[in-house]
Parts: sequence; structure tokens; C-alpha cells
Amino acid sequence: MFSGFKEVREDEKSQMVGKVFSNVASNYDLMNDFMSGGLHRLWKDRLDFVCIFVLIISFLSSRCFLYFTCSAQFIRLVSKLSPFPGMKHLDVAGGTGRLSLLNEVYVKNAECAGDVAFRILESVNSIKRRALQDPLNDDLQEETRIHVCDINPNMLDVGKNRALEKGLGEDKSLVWVQGDAEALSFEDNSMDGYTIAFGIRNVTHIEKVLSEAYRVLKRGGRFLCLELSHVDIPVFKELYDFYSFSVIPRLGEIVAGDRESYQYLVESIRRFPPQEKFALMIADAGFQKVEYENLVGGVVAIHSGLKI
Ligand code: SAM
Repeated sequence: MFSGFKEVREDEKSQMVGKVFSNVASNYDLMNDFMSGGLHRLWKDRLDFVCIFVLIISFLSSRCFLYFTCSAQFIRLVSKLSPFPGMKHLDVAGGTGRLSLLNEVYVKNAECAGDVAFRILESVNSIKRRALQDPLNDDLQEETRIHVCDINPNMLDVGKNRALEKGLGEDKSLVWVQGDAEALSFEDNSMDGYTIAFGIRNVTHIEKVLSEAYRVLKRGGRFLCLELSHVDIPVFKELYDFYSFSVIPRLGEIVAGDRESYQYLVESIRRFPPQEKFALMIADAGFQKVEYENLVGGVVAIHSGLKI
């Protein structure tokens, strides 16, 4: 058995977690040897120096991987949105900070935080610059508003600081709002676009978030959700499971001194509805033309829907 799996709290494990591991149980040791190059045998004993070194290297490389794939995913997300000057956009769960257990996880994974709003704004500004060079264009009177909403004020503060660093501190188009995705303070039919990146997995009631997204969007408005999702490709799935359940919590413990947060991260991904089911939930909230795209084999998925 994977050593990391033994320490997962039973009461927090979803049925899916159980299923994943019973599926691979028959070839368990063989697969462990294959995937870890025998390292799992070391992990079952006391961690020695070599093992710690290997873990740190793989932790650092996964952080680099996360950083670069994150950027690519955000670019993809924003390109689906087709930002335009004068647009009213709402980016929910858009902050970053350093409180509670959840925030600890976010801070440690915060390389891309705030990027959605910044990228939309940069895209709008570049369209504006081009349009301003067109003397026939008198369509730029509408003020662009990109609202960044997060439940946690500390997250928002860090986001604001990042905006300053990017030279967007004085940009009145960026509006920072503390609020709950499940009960938004925005008016009905007030937004052209809605994004939520790596946020919906952690809310208590996904249905409420979707229904609020539907309420605040104008007709023709687009909902986009970027979220860690489910891998269904044979072998890659097993490798991903192994990495998630055996390596990540242990890395969290060794490198960040915080096994619990990383354990939470892995389990929250597994509890999140699979791509098809989540698409149905979006449709149930009233959205049409619901579709999704898997990135990195389903490690991440982008779901979208239109309010018509
Ligand atoms: N969107 C950013 C990104 O992609 O980097 C930040 C994602 S961060 C992993 C998740 C964010 O969701 C946190 O800032 C957290 O405060 C926020 N969050 C959690 N529950 C929320 C809720 N009910 N309403 C609004 N924000 C929430």
C-alpha cells in the first residue's frame, strides 16, 4: 500500500478515493515499484537523506510545471472570454492571502493568483490602444470594470499588491470587492462575463455559486470556470493518483511542514464533481451551450456556459 494513503483520514475520504485505490489494488506493489522506481519502499521505512533530496527536487519541478501550465491555462481562459473595452466582468475567488488552513494552501500555490483579472484588463487595454488609433472609432466611452471578488480580505490585499507591482494599481477599471460567491452583492443582469479559477472546488454549495453566476450575468454573458478536475487516461491516471496521494501530502509535510493542507488539496480535487457531472450542474443553473475542455489530460478543465 502507498505509505501516504495510510495516513489519509478515513472520515474525509470520498467514495471516489476508495474506488481509485481498489481499482489498482491487484497490482499494487508491482505498480508502486514501476512508478516510483522502488522509492516507495524507502518511504515505507524512515525517510533517509536520498529520499528527502528526491522529494525536494520533484517538489520544485512540479512547482515550475504548475507555474507554466497555470499561465497557459489563464491565457486559454481569457481567450475564450473575448474581452472588449467597456465590458463589465466579475472574477470570483480572485484574490490571494495568508489566513486559515485553506489560505495556507493558496499562499503556497499563489504564483498565478489574480492573473485572470489582470489578463482580461491587459487584453481590454490593448484593444483600446489599437482602437484609439482609429479616428472613426467613437465607441470607447463605456468604462471597463473588472470586479475581483473574494471572500477573504487578506487574499484581496495580496491581489491589490500584485496589481501595484504590475503597474495596474491606479487603473480604475479594477474594482476589489470582498464577497461570498454564494451570495453576490452585484445586481441582476449586470455582468458581461464571469470567471472563477481554482475557486469553486472549495465553496460549500456549488449550486448556489452557479445560480448566482447566472443571476448577475447579462443575456449573452459567458460563464467560465477553470478548475482542477479528473484524469481519465489509463496509466496517466494511475501516475497522477500516485503522485496526488503518495507524493503531494508527503512533500507538503517535508517541504512546507504542512501535510494537512496538502492532504486537503488532494481530497478536495477528488470530491469535486467529474467534468460531465459538473457540466450538467451548470446546465441545471440555466446556462446553455455548456461545454468543457480538458487541459493536461483532465488535470485541469475549463467549463463554459452562456446565459441566453
Ligand atoms: N483565482 C485565483 C487563482 O486562480 O489563483 C485564486 C484561487 S485560490 C486557490 C481560491 C480562492 O477562493 C481564495 O482566494 C479563497 O479566499 C476564495 N474563496 C473560497 N471560498 C470562497 C467563496 N465562498 N466566495 C468567494 N471566494 C472564495
